[in-house]
Amino acid sequence: MMYMVNFMNLVYCYIENNTSALDQTYIYQFKNEPVEIGKRVLVNFNHRECVAFVDGIEWNVSRAFPYEIKPVLNVLDEKPILNKEMIDLAKWISRTSISTVISALQAMVPPALKPKSNDSRIKMEKWVRPLANHTKTAKQRMLYELLAEKKEMKRSEWLKQSLSRKLEELGCVEIFEKESRTSEKIIEKKPCSFVLNEEQKYAVERILHSPKDVIALKGVTGSGKTEVYLHAAEEVLKQGREVLILVPEISLTPMMVKRVQERFGNDVAIYHSGLSAQQKYEQYQSVRSQDKCIVVGTRSAVFMPFSNLGLIILDEEHDLSYKQDQNCRYHARDVALHRAQTHHARVVLASATPSLDTMARALKGVYELVEIKHRVNQSLPEVKLIDMNEVIRQKQSYILSDEMLQEMRKALDRHHQIILLLNRRGYQPILRCSQCGKVLMCPHCDKPLVLHKEKNTLNCHLCGTVLKRIYACPQCQGKLSGSGFGTQMLEEKVARLFPNARLIRMDADTTTRKDAHEKLLKAFEDHEADILLGTQMISKGLDFENVTLVGILQGDAMLARSDYRSAELTFDLLTQAGGRSGRGHSDGKVLIQVYDKKHYAIQCALKQDYDSFFRHEMQYRHLAGYPPYTYLCALTFISKNEEMALDEANHVMMLLKEKDFKVLGVSELLKIQDEKRYRICVKSKSLELLQKEIYDVYQHHRTSKSRVKLHIDMNPLTLDD
Ligand code: ADP
Ligand code: ZN
Repeated sequence: MMYMVNFMNLVYCYIENNTSALDQTYIYQFKNEPVEIGKRVLVNFNHRECVAFVDGIEWNVSRAFPYEIKPVLNVLDEKPILNKEMIDLAKWISRTSISTVISALQAMVPPALKPKSNDSRIKMEKWVRPLANHTKTAKQRMLYELLAEKKEMKRSEWLKQSLSRKLEELGCVEIFEKESRTSEKIIEKKPCSFVLNEEQKYAVERILHSPKDVIALKGVTGSGKTEVYLHAAEEVLKQGREVLILVPEISLTPMMVKRVQERFGNDVAIYHSGLSAQQKYEQYQSVRSQDKCIVVGTRSAVFMPFSNLGLIILDEEHDLSYKQDQNCRYHARDVALHRAQTHHARVVLASATPSLDTMARALKGVYELVEIKHRVNQSLPEVKLIDMNEVIRQKQSYILSDEMLQEMRKALDRHHQIILLLNRRGYQPILRCSQCGKVLMCPHCDKPLVLHKEKNTLNCHLCGTVLKRIYACPQCQGKLSGSGFGTQMLEEKVARLFPNARLIRMDADTTTRKDAHEKLLKAFEDHEADILLGTQMISKGLDFENVTLVGILQGDAMLARSDYRSAELTFDLLTQAGGRSGRGHSDGKVLIQVYDKKHYAIQCALKQDYDSFFRHEMQYRHLAGYPPYTYLCALTFISKNEEMALDEANHVMMLLKEKDFKVLGVSELLKIQDEKRYRICVKSKSLELLQKEIYDVYQHHRTSKSRVKLHIDMNPLTLDD
């Protein structure tokens, strides 16, 4: 059966549904509706009304089709929500990170522009403007002229004028709607109060004038990198171009935001996950309308609608949070580099501990390497290891060693502040039956339940299951006893030992509310607390004058992971956390409690010696054939049906091996939410080749109707179980 289309316009669109089976364009027809590329339309798909994103248009078509071409039901946007650059970018992301085009498009727009988020509709406001001068009295005419002079007024303001209702009745004014904008406080710009030192000046000069477009800026914490960003940004803004400053985490943003705002006032847009949908939308629009020319934000700010981007800065470029770890697994660094090419913009990849990938490229001459070796005004803090094997042999506490306690007491006596870092939340991570020895596991995952004492619950940190606390083993009724400790137990212990010290705990459990990060950090900054304790979210980017002691507990816990990157993560964490101490004028101290004192990641962090860590780690990566020497892609096959998942993993592994890829696996991973997971890892010297072949695997899988879920992670940052 053939269907004829006569003198119709065709639209090619992606259905707004992130199922990979639908990852292709579908065709609809329209006549006079204002369809445009980049707008959304309403269409009938599978007997349901669906939102679709317009990717292409073909005018005036007369042709036969093997299926019926249905009409477009409605055009949803007045103006396109994405331009050509962004649509091309979405397709590039889809191809290179192997995800659906629609998930890439959705990652780009603020929530208010996503079809599923009806609750976060864009807020509208009533305004008035003059229509016709039907005024009858002098007073009425005066008011009319006032409005004519202002051209338009918010209706709420307008109604405060007497006679305004009368003018409305007389048909003198027109009431219309406009998107609402929260009025901003005026922020005064403050110029920089000091001159840059020679290293900083050189860095700014290279950022602006290097023949290479990408600068790897390596500088220890406190070396004045932020000042370098601000100076380079100033120059770029003077040229009439836009600037993007990316920061890794929301907990980091307040201070960076504050400093950028102090320098650039109301030219700054802010974009991060802590904003409401309306706030995000307003910030997004302010960039699109070119009201704001500088953006500070987290990962997704890389998609702001710039028109003439001149400079992108990635602060802490090594940070894992730059990669989105679900749906569309893009890396903000890759997107930044790609967008910079389109805009002919320059990129700064800045860190005290650059990722191995960035450093390797800088040493090869792909990027220009610029180093800032000295801290401003300060020496590096004294870093010391505490051997916990020894501590336990001496029967001291396995939570806080005597030496740690002593230093804490000293700091508190001097009214200095302390940061304690423990990368494990909850009260106790393991509960074991004292009779049968079994560990209490999540009923749905291969993961021990963690005791949370605040609400007396047992929580699974993998799937989020929360159960009421039990005291006896469900199998043999033996008494459960806990081992290990998390931030909640640490808090309890510190409170007991230092009853007069004021404590702030910061981890995923205390920061669920919006603005919680900001409030807690502000309180600590204002010295409303003496000790800040928490997980890795407190380890970086914080700039507290009064902190002189940083204590890191279980500093080597991460080394126990099977991941090839665990040494790098450990080194980064310890080095970054160390940089927190002694930023003010009193000398700082960093104490790290570890079991594996000799490990090179620990030893190099102790000496704050990035270069020797880099050499050591590169050797290991070279021998083991891991990035940056190869490119990696992880494919995880997931199903409640163990056999089906395993079969498919084996099948794809064979296919890829036939294409001469090196493939690791099949490895069995932990069960999550009752689903079995099997993973293979594909290695290749050529990223393009890897992307192309894995894209074929993806295409084949998505059209095969297989019931096994396939997660593809191109360039995975971690390979956890
Ligand atoms: P980083 O971003 O590398 O951690 P910052 O830019 O935050 O370092 O600088 C650390 C501190 O030193 C800040 O308080 C900053 O205001 C100050 N600072 C930076 N550059 C100079 C300079 N040239 N002279 C004096 N103080 C400076
Ligand atoms: Zn679970």
